[in-house]
Order: sequence, then C-alpha cells, then structure tokens
Amino acid sequence: MGNKCELCNTALGSKEELLAHVEKYHRRETSVFTCDTCGATFRLEAELMDHLKTSHPGRVSRATVSL
Ligand SMILES: [Zn+2]
Ligand SMILES: [Zn+2]
Repeated sequence: MGNKCELCNTALGSKEELLAHVEKYHRRETSVFTCDTCGATFRLEAELMDHLKTSHPGRVSRATVSL
C-alpha cells in the first residue's frame, strides 16, 4: 500500500510526491473530458462528442476539461 502511481506503477514516497509525479509525467493521460449532462468521462474529446451525439441528442452540452 502507499502512494503508487496507477498509470506506471511507480512507488512514490508521499501523496504530494505522487501528485507531483502524475502532474509531471502523466498530465496528458489524466486529462479527462467530462459530459456536463450525465458526468460520464472520456479520455478523448472525440469520444465525448460521440457520446453527446448518441446519448443526449438535441441537448446542448458543453465539454469541459479537468486536469
Ligand atoms: Zn506514473
Ligand atoms: Zn452524457
């Protein structure tokens, strides 16, 4: 147990170090596109757009990016 990076399995000494590690090495991978309508998250903007078209037709939703 501890502070292990879920993305590359690197063990970090503290939660702060883990956060810094993720920020430094996996910033792109951890970027998530969130559907404002239902909260679903996607790795790619294209996936979010596809979701909006298929799951929420006719609804105007904004895509947000949380880093
Ligand atoms: Zn990592
Ligand atoms: Zn949705």
